[in-house]
Amino acid sequence: MKKYICMLLILCLSVLSAACNNKLPQPVKSEDFALGTIIDQDVYGANAQKASVEVFAKIKELDALWTINSPGGDINKLNDHAGLGYVELKPETITILNEARKISDLSSGAAFDITVAPLVKAWGIGTDHPRLPADNVVKQLVSLVNYKDIIIDQATNSAALQKKGQMVDLGGIAKGYIGDIVTDIYKKNGITSAVANLGGNVVVLGSKPDGSPWKIGIQNPRSETSDIVGVVEVTDKAVVTSGDYQRYFIEDGKRYCHIIDPRTGYPIDSGLMSVTIIASSSADADGLAKAIVLGLDKGMELVKNYGKAEAIFITADKKIFVTPGLEDKFRLEDASHEYTYVQNGG
Ligand code: ADP
Ligand code: MG
Repeated sequence: MKKYICMLLILCLSVLSAACNNKLPQPVKSEDFALGTIIDQDVYGANAQKASVEVFAKIKELDALWTINSPGGDINKLNDHAGLGYVELKPETITILNEARKISDLSSGAAFDITVAPLVKAWGIGTDHPRLPADNVVKQLVSLVNYKDIIIDQATNSAALQKKGQMVDLGGIAKGYIGDIVTDIYKKNGITSAVANLGGNVVVLGSKPDGSPWKIGIQNPRSETSDIVGVVEVTDKAVVTSGDYQRYFIEDGKRYCHIIDPRTGYPIDSGLMSVTIIASSSADADGLAKAIVLGLDKGMELVKNYGKAEAIFITADKKIFVTPGLEDKFRLEDASHEYTYVQNGG
């Protein structure tokens, strides 16, 4: 008899738990490839399917417009016309160029400057043929770097690059900027809960359907298997990381990564392995993540001066620093046990 009661109890519990699980809203999950990376979305709500399809279509449209990796598009048009006056571009391109200029202003071009493109090309990091350019080549190309040479004529949707040889590369802001467009598409479709991951640039809309915050993993910059070092809890935010581990090559034991110091023309060597920015604007977060160029103290200062972002800095000696507003939202979860979380700024 006892045995039957026990079995009945197990049966009731499993029926109950199945019923509960069924009640939990399920996301529409989708994955695609664009912007040189894998993009995935978890979208909840009645229009989730429609919104997800719209998102991928928009991302691909903007990718074609802004990439410098394949012919055509507005950015190639602008670059090909450097030193030759204005070219008319799509209004969206003008908007992202304005946004890029605004972010550069925050550091006077010391951290973020999309005119580093000639150096990005010379180093070839992330391509099949990365190389160490000669010092005199770097010197010559760095003289072309100046975001103030991007001239914009709003009235005619036109832009110009002042000097011949100048180029822009939106690789450091496009994913961030598009993240804001993605959340706009969700909102327009009445979605209140969604998360999209654009190759490490995460945007979350609202909270999880059960009302709890989204938990976003912060990558261990030296893990070969994308392990995390911690978790941050967010609602309605972008979580964007720039790191020296995303694209790099090693020569004579030295790591050269894909983020260029606009002041020197060389890949960063700032004592930081990654910077994660948490902000309402995904575009700003992507731009501010280039605080990685400046090192811990100046990078922190940049984020504080911006005023509307929180940040996680991971140093080369495996210390993790966060801005004060993040101390109750960041949790160390480091399976490697190699990282130290320095609370209260040390
Ligand atoms: P990803 O998210 O693709 O890993 P990041 O957001 O870290 O890339 O930005 C790095 C990319 O931005 C580089 O591949 C290059 O195209 C461009 N870039 C490199 N250095 C800078 C810089 N200092 N300012 C703006 N863009 C940069
Ligand atoms: Mg990025």
